[in-house]
Amino acid sequence: MLPKTRGQAKEEGSRIYFTGKDCKRGHSQSRWTSSGGCMECVKDRRDKEKGEYLAELDDISIYIRRKKKENDEWLEFQKSYREKYPEKAAAIEALYNKNS
Ligand SMILES: [Zn+2]
Repeated sequence: MLPKTRGQAKEEGSRIYFTGKDCKRGHSQSRWTSSGGCMECVKDRRDKEKGEYLAELDDISIYIRRKKKENDEWLEFQKSYREKYPEKAAAIEALYNKNS
């Protein structure tokens, strides 16, 4: 038998309690004593946060991939430029190296 109120749960040292009433989102679930939050709601929130976190990670990996691709194209461009205009390329590189 689970405690029926948060206060009772605290007294009994139970991590969860069950009021028998639906939460504001209509879940008929036990609640966490620590937060008073319905287990289902807490789980939903965690899933949502996890989803957002993963979406963010995905954005970053796409960004990195895109940067890498740009970089490859840039290196490719530099290489062909150097082959076509070795003197200009050397001058540009000297300038670039001086500035950096
Ligand atoms: Zn709920």
